[in-house]
Amino acid sequence: MASKFVVLCAALATFAHVSFASAEEAAPVKLANVVILCTGGTIAGTGAATTTTVGYTAAKIGCNTLVDSVPELKKVANVHGEQVYQIASESITNDNWLTLSKRINQLLAQDDADGIVVTHGTDTIEETAYFLDLTVKSKKPVVVVGAMRPATAISADGPINLYNAVILAGSKEAVGKGVLVCLNDEINAGREVTKTNTSTADTFRTPDLGMLGYMQDNKPHFYRASTRLNTADTEFDVSGLDKLPQVDIVYAYGNYNSIALDAFVKAGAKGIVHAGPGDGSVGAQMVKPLQDARAAYWSSSAQRGSARA
Ligand code: ASP
Repeated sequence: MASKFVVLCAALATFAHVSFASAEEAAPVKLANVVILCTGGTIAGTGAATTTTVGYTAAKIGCNTLVDSVPELKKVANVHGEQVYQIASESITNDNWLTLSKRINQLLAQDDADGIVVTHGTDTIEETAYFLDLTVKSKKPVVVVGAMRPATAISADGPINLYNAVILAGSKEAVGKGVLVCLNDEINAGREVTKTNTSTADTFRTPDLGMLGYMQDNKPHFYRASTRLNTADTEFDVSGLDKLPQVDIVYAYGNYNSIALDAFVKAGAKGIVHAGPGDGSVGAQMVKPLQDARAAYWSSSAQRGSARA
């Protein structure tokens, strides 16, 4: 009995030693390298007073100031800020999208970049996130983030949103999930999310499908993933482009006519999207103008082609 006790004590001591030793020798946690690309929006906005949440100026605070205003970021990642442009997102252009997508591709091709956060105005977050979801050629995380209240406001949501976005962009869980949009503790897919309310903080939703997961206790918790092809798996590649073709949208509404369509064609549109009601129905008065526009485009393309030949 006595010798069994001695053996048991020795065994426990060995286990205790092993576990203490491994805790002492555990390598320090390696922080992910996350680049924060700043593009403007309300997250970088300032108002006249702390109570100003309407009528403020978007896109005022520079990238380094924005990053430095959340010192907690440095505890969860090696962060580096870069101003790509500084605009309110309603002013976004095709050139802005190309610039952003190409810069992300450049950075993610480097071994020392683990993930990207894009700070952005919320008005067109969904368009930018979807564009990036189709054109970024990397499985590393890309997270687009914004804020509904300017940085100067009481209870500004920018700092916590940025903090969560950086954790998400540096996480293994976000790898391969496509471009993500993260605000108000919720993670949505860039290709699915939409802004549903002009001013509330819980505005970003994915109707019908639901969010992918949420941020809690400094960690992402995913519940689902989109099954659609994203980023490196899509057929889109903008690396050889320095311009996107001009494509305009003709909206259907009561009593609509071909005036806008004709103007777009005359201005040299390379494509027209007809945004019709229901399942894309076309008003009877628009069928011929649309057919004529298509015929005119193809005949001028054919002429251009034969002139070249
Ligand atoms: N108009 C602003 C923008 O999209 C709104 C926002 O950021 O929330 O830049």
